[in-house]
Amino acid sequence: MTAPTEPSPPSERRSSPWRIPWAAEANAPEAFAASIAAAILALSIHERLAPLIGDSSTFLLLVPSVLIGSALGGCWPGLVVTAFGAAMPFVLGWRGPEPNVLVETALFALLGVGISFVGDRLLRANAAARAFNEMSLQREAHLQSILDTVPDAMIVIDAKGIIQSFSATAARLFQRTADEVIGRNVSCLMPEPYHHAHDGYITRYLQTGEKRIIGLGRVVVGERRDGSTFPMELSVGEVRVGSSHYFTGFVRDLTERQATQTRLQELQSELVHISRLTAMGELASALAHELNQPLSAIANYLRGAERLLEAPVPDVERLRDPVAKATAQALRAGDVIRRLREFVATGENERHDESLSKLIEESLALALVGVRSNDVRIQTVRGFPGDTVFADKVQIQQVLLNLIRNAVEAMAGAPKRELTISTRAGEHGEAVVRVADTGPGIGPALAERLFEPFMTTKKTGMGVGLSICRTIIDAHGGRIWVEETPGGGATFAFSIPPGAEDDA
Ligand code: ADP
Repeated sequence: MTAPTEPSPPSERRSSPWRIPWAAEANAPEAFAASIAAAILALSIHERLAPLIGDSSTFLLLVPSVLIGSALGGCWPGLVVTAFGAAMPFVLGWRGPEPNVLVETALFALLGVGISFVGDRLLRANAAARAFNEMSLQREAHLQSILDTVPDAMIVIDAKGIIQSFSATAARLFQRTADEVIGRNVSCLMPEPYHHAHDGYITRYLQTGEKRIIGLGRVVVGERRDGSTFPMELSVGEVRVGSSHYFTGFVRDLTERQATQTRLQELQSELVHISRLTAMGELASALAHELNQPLSAIANYLRGAERLLEAPVPDVERLRDPVAKATAQALRAGDVIRRLREFVATGENERHDESLSKLIEESLALALVGVRSNDVRIQTVRGFPGDTVFADKVQIQQVLLNLIRNAVEAMAGAPKRELTISTRAGEHGEAVVRVADTGPGIGPALAERLFEPFMTTKKTGMGVGLSICRTIIDAHGGRIWVEETPGGGATFAFSIPPGAEDDA
């Protein structure tokens, strides 16, 4: 796993395609030697070809040696070989001091000086480029060493979402190698619906400048190579280089965070369990007290009615009174329960316009802390236009948390473990949220009593989760129900009112 992200040894990294293998330095002795050798070769070629081409191309044949000298060693080798080339035809006695020869020689000397200066400039530019290249490679090696050691996973993408760099921790976290993901769209690291929506997020940010995650940090869901998902904390920074945009994401795995956090969570939920039991004990005795009266009255009236029915010819008129009174008492008992539920629901009710997708995203991330998330494949499908609901955030998160945890628990031994959370608009514009699992599902007998308090099939269950969910959803003016997941499993659905924007 680590091999592709390990930095390559420095010797390998420094070899650059731009480097001339030898002598590309100002005044290198090799440059003098090579250019003089080239000039001698040109002169000997000229001597052999002289019967064919005459004296006119002596200087033409010498031009390449000036080029070689200035390209390899800059100005001085070029000038020296120019002087050598200009003098040699006279030294060898090929030419005399005739005016045309002198003009030809002067022209060659001028050309040689020009070539030498241009070669010198090119050589210096080449040296500067090499130094710059060397510096870039050093910086890259430095950056790579940071990428390899930074404890958070780090991913750099461009404005099109294409991954530019992928740290060793990121490779471990997402179970993918850097070679595999660099050059691909970053959406390959997220489950649906983010997988398809991510390009849109970047485009929207670039167009509107509205920051939803940059500089803020959020809890989101990531996807490993095998399709399993996990909660992660994501912070994003932005870099502008000229007209290009780059985004750097720092990812912290919340499942890996610390075993202590999971333990803490467990302790906390045990505490909640105990305090719920106490609260329920109190609630139960209050209920028993309140309901005792109407229930015993109902029993008495019905017993009287029974006695009347025992007569050979029952007096229907006299029966009417105890039955009516029993009905009234039953309604009173119902009233007591309704008042109690209203009391529970309105306890700390703080409703505002909330983003439904954010509510789901956060609940999902919270529900997955401490759960072996690679056991379950999670999908969210966004279909509620406008996305805003009018809700008490904490209470709706409690509902989602209950439903998600129930679904994950129900799928523990199932061969297929897929959790889908979807939203859509209901008939009257309300938001409908569905939490669908592929567990064993719910039998028709159980389905009827599911939302009643103390209804549980679990050894350690209390059977209050769903009844609390119903109380919360009722208080929001919505409805909660259960359906069968197509293909097997249970789907819990609830509706809540849309936010002010969507209502309009
Ligand atoms: P608890 O989880 O404490 O049992 P709940 O009110 O949350 O209490 O759930 C009541 C019962 O409903 C559970 O014991 C279980 O039998 C059933 N149930 C809830 N959710 C599911 C589900 N997704 N699949 C199958 N059964 C479920």
